[in-house]
Amino acid sequence: MAFKPANNIQDLQYFGEFGGVNPSISDSSTYTFLSAKKMFDTFEGNADGCYLYSRHSSPSNLYLGEALAAMEGTETANVTASGMGAITPVLMQLCGADDHIVSSRTIYGGSYAFLKNFAPKFNIKTTFVDITKLDIVEASITKNTKVLYCESVSNPLLEVADIKGLSAIAKRHNLKLVVDNTFSPLSISPVKLGADVVIHSLTKFINGTSDTVAGVICGTQEFINDLRNVNNGACMLLGSTMDSFRSASVLKNLRTLHIRMQQHSYNASYLAEKFEADGLKTVYPGLKSHPSHELFKSMMNEKYGFGGMLTIDVGDQKKANDLMELMQEKNLGYLAVSLGFYKTLFSAPGSSTSSEIPENEQIEMGLSDGLIRFSIGLDADIKRTYQIMRECMEQLDILKPELV
Ligand SMILES: *Cc1c(COP(=O)(O)O)cnc(C)c1O
Repeated sequence: MAFKPANNIQDLQYFGEFGGVNPSISDSSTYTFLSAKKMFDTFEGNADGCYLYSRHSSPSNLYLGEALAAMEGTETANVTASGMGAITPVLMQLCGADDHIVSSRTIYGGSYAFLKNFAPKFNIKTTFVDITKLDIVEASITKNTKVLYCESVSNPLLEVADIKGLSAIAKRHNLKLVVDNTFSPLSISPVKLGADVVIHSLTKFINGTSDTVAGVICGTQEFINDLRNVNNGACMLLGSTMDSFRSASVLKNLRTLHIRMQQHSYNASYLAEKFEADGLKTVYPGLKSHPSHELFKSMMNEKYGFGGMLTIDVGDQKKANDLMELMQEKNLGYLAVSLGFYKTLFSAPGSSTSSEIPENEQIEMGLSDGLIRFSIGLDADIKRTYQIMRECMEQLDILKPELV
C-alpha cells in the first residue's frame, strides 16, 4: 500500500462513549483496577490496554499519538507537553555519560542550547556540523557517538537534510538518526526515508492555532515503551506529559493539517517567487535557486508543497526591524516568534530565536542581522498581501521602485 500520510489521519476513527464523532476526553489522573494482580501486571508493563497513571499514558494522549504515528508512518508515538519536552527525553534516553552526538549546527535555538550547555553536565558531548556535507558528518563520528541529530528543514536557515544519505551513515555506524520534522509536516516523511525517530513541536503547524505548546515523539513500539518505562524511561521520569484536554484539542486541529499545509505552501511559494523576482535575497526550498531544491523535491510528498517558511535578507538590523514594524502596522502579520499560525508571523532570528547561538557562529553559518524569518499565513488573497508588502518595502527603500 502506498504511504499517504494525510489519508491515514482522515481514516483514523475514534468515537466518544455516546457515539460522539470526537473521542471523549479522559479526565482522570489515575485509574481503578478490578484486581490487585492486574495493577501489578500493569506496573510491570504486561497489561496492554490498561491505564495506570496519566503521566505514563492516558486515552486522550494515545488517540493523538496514534494519529501522529499514522501521519509519520511509525509503529506508535508519545505526545509530550512541548517540543523541547519531546527532544530532551529522546536524547537523554539514547545517550548516557561519555556518549557523543553529531548534530546539525543549524537547529532550533533551544535544541542547540540544550546540546551545547545542558547535556555536557551529564558528560554528553556534541559536535555541530554542516549537515548538508555528508563527508563531514561521517568524519565527525567517534566510537562514542550514539545519535545523528538534525531538522529536515532547518531553523532558521531552511537548509535541507539529506535524510536518506544520513540514514545510510547512521546504519553504517550503528547510530540512531533523530529528525525534528517541525518545519515540514506532511511534506516530508523522515521515517520513510530512513530516520529512526521523528520529533515535532506540535506548537507550530500541526496544532496551527498558537494556543499551546506541545510535542510528539514518533518511533518504534520498543523505543516508545522504553521512554515510558516506569523504572528508567525519560518521558516517564522527566515528566513532560501532555494534558488530556490539550491533546483532545490538538487532535481536532490535526484533522485540517493537510488543507492548511497546502495553503501555507501555496502562499509562501507565491511570495518567495515575487520577492526573488524583485531582487531580494530570498531563501525558500521551493525556489530553483535554493541549494537543496532538487533534494527537497526528491524527498517530498508533492501535494503538500515546500512548506510555509521563507527568509529574506534586507541588509541590516534596522531595516529588518523597520520593515517588521511597518508590516505589523498594515496588519500583514505579527512581529512574533513561532510559526504555523493562520496569520503571517515574522521575526529576526539573529536577535531572537537563534540568539542562543554566539555571534561569531551566527556569521559562520550565514545568519545575518538583516535576516527576517517568515511563517506565511493562510491569507485568502496572497496577491493583495504581496502588493502591500511591496509598498512597505518601497517606503523603507528596501525595494527602490526604479530598480525593480
Ligand atoms: C519550536 C521548535 C521547537 C521547540 O518546540 P516547543 O514546542 O517550543 O518546545 C523545536 N524544534 C523546532 C524546529 C521548533 O521550531
